[in-house]
Amino acid sequence: MISNAQIHFNDSGTPVADNFDDVYFSNDDGLAESNYVFFEQNNLPERFESHPRRHFVIAETGFGTGLNFLNSWRRFQQRTPTSNLERLYFISFEKYPIKLEDLRQALKAWPSLSDLSEQLCEKYPLALQGCHRLEFENGKVILDLWFGDVQTSMPQIAYKKCGLVDAWYLDGFAPSKNPDMWQQSLFDSMAHLSQSHATFATFTAAGFVRRGLQQAGFECKKVKGYGRKREMVVGQLANATAHQTTPAYFQQNKGSLKNIAIIGGGIATSCLMYNFAKRGVKTTLFCEDSMLAQGASHNRQGAVYPNLQGEFGIPSEFYAHSFLYALRFYQTLANQNYQFAHQWCGVLLQSVTDAKKQQHHKIAASSLYPHQLIKPVSATQAQEIANIDTPYGGLFIEQGGWVSPPELTQAVYDAANDLVAPNSTHFNTCIEKLERKQDGWYLKSKDAEFGAFSEVFVCAGEHSDRFEQTKDIGIHGVRGQVSHIEAGDISQRLSTVICHKGYFTPSQSGEHCMGATFDKHSKSRDVTEQDNITNREQLSQFYKDTEFDKSLGQVKSAKAAVRCCFNDHTPMIGQVQDKADIIQAYQNIGKGKFYDFAEQEYPHEGLHIVTGFGARGLCTAPMVTEHLVASLFDEPLPYSERVHEALHPSRLYIRNLIRNKI
Ligand code: SAM
Repeated sequence: MISNAQIHFNDSGTPVADNFDDVYFSNDDGLAESNYVFFEQNNLPERFESHPRRHFVIAETGFGTGLNFLNSWRRFQQRTPTSNLERLYFISFEKYPIKLEDLRQALKAWPSLSDLSEQLCEKYPLALQGCHRLEFENGKVILDLWFGDVQTSMPQIAYKKCGLVDAWYLDGFAPSKNPDMWQQSLFDSMAHLSQSHATFATFTAAGFVRRGLQQAGFECKKVKGYGRKREMVVGQLANATAHQTTPAYFQQNKGSLKNIAIIGGGIATSCLMYNFAKRGVKTTLFCEDSMLAQGASHNRQGAVYPNLQGEFGIPSEFYAHSFLYALRFYQTLANQNYQFAHQWCGVLLQSVTDAKKQQHHKIAASSLYPHQLIKPVSATQAQEIANIDTPYGGLFIEQGGWVSPPELTQAVYDAANDLVAPNSTHFNTCIEKLERKQDGWYLKSKDAEFGAFSEVFVCAGEHSDRFEQTKDIGIHGVRGQVSHIEAGDISQRLSTVICHKGYFTPSQSGEHCMGATFDKHSKSRDVTEQDNITNREQLSQFYKDTEFDKSLGQVKSAKAAVRCCFNDHTPMIGQVQDKADIIQAYQNIGKGKFYDFAEQEYPHEGLHIVTGFGARGLCTAPMVTEHLVASLFDEPLPYSERVHEALHPSRLYIRNLIRNKI
């Protein structure tokens, strides 16, 4: 559970943290201090001009009011046209996030940054632990805001041997007022996360801080402090330590990304294209249908909400952060005037059975989630929210709602094309075979061959295992049918999405979406009368005595598709692994053999899988594809190490090897 900062403003208007009894920034010109201590003393004016890579990573301990972030963003905007830099990453850790109203108040002190402050406040996340990836300027400026203690958050970041961070802002309240933060373990974690030649700057000149940083491997020196302060400390790590979090079998190799093909056509495909486009990379799409979203993304109204649990394990972390990221992304698209039907009308999870009641109670009692994300509601409150006579209480996800998946898929695709026009698309092109030759990958349809591509992304839902190279990945198809039922005078008042066992949406053009069925044994996309009956009966089972249920009309039409899932209900993203190779390479892992972090050879180098979104692609596809693309560019990753591993294509093989089940 994350607690907000309790603050007050002193006579100079500077915010002061009550529990640390310390100011967030200097009483005399905090902006000038931020610029001098952190930006200039890390030598960033020169380094922004001469940095060899296209992205630069700053990391900070203690986000506070975001002043250091805003100043760095402004300075990034002011780099000259000859700078190589295209993207600024700013990773910041915060144990006690400031409340939004306090943040607004604090940032009023900097009129010269007001255009940036407004954007920060608009996206400022709710107080949930973990990494909130906030993107600005179409992904040119990325803020990874980790809520939680820096000591526990930093080790959750996934990174490879080459490290991640170019410059550290070692902020945080004075060591005398905040001794828990200024620990050797923090300095060691900083060294582990650093690139070679990473620098740091800190306002404090405390001897134990300098010695601790030296012990971690940084060369340190004292320089003149800001204003009346005599000294501060700066330094550099000459060589990054050969350290990494991710074992070889869960790595993603950096791509060459010269010429990219994507096979697919649903929401994950559009999001993947978009995340490449954000980085200036064009893609070529192959879609077997005549238009986008003809598979599992074809429903009229899809509910958008996270699948949370009573503990903050991998699924809760994955769904909560994916959901919040997706909301920010969809809101940005809507603000940019991309059109897609949607309504952020909330999602009401109804406690329709004892098992659901217990599950909901556990979530509410956990205090893990802020109420703006999910909150318990009584039956009376649920009636008020839903505006119909529902007999159940449950949980309310106020920021959720529904979107039109096909329109959203198109909007994201259009946005991708607007960023790097034109991506080329081959509709009505069913790729049947993939072949790797000397110069890259070739894609073969019945009557044509396309290539060579440096990378291929198979994003084809249930058809993703159609190729020789992907046939063993372990996909299950689960057929689902959604029925469209005529709204009645009571039901049309419904003002939120309700979830019982299935889901039911507010009416759109006089009809509600009601669904969906789950059938593991059929792969048919044909609509059946029996599935309409099943959907209707399931609704009546829970609402049969209500005016709402009685007011509903006839089922008018329906849509059926096959969702693509894996056994562990988690999507799969990354390099396609060869089952036999993995078994051979790691066969003794179950006997406790330790594998070094050696780079692994991939026989299918450049071939990636992006699938397994089940019924949850609207919630997860934006962040999952962002994670994958960031990993291909060796950039900081938005999911923690444990989620990164849970998404990896090797995971099922490795799990089975560990349990001696292969
Ligand atoms: N960099 C900030 C800015 O630009 O406004 C000012 C930072 S303020 C001086 C110090 C911040 O460090 C506070 O927001 C505080 O809550 C945070 N902090 C203190 N101890 C921490 C810890 N152990 N983990 C994460 N954040 C911490």
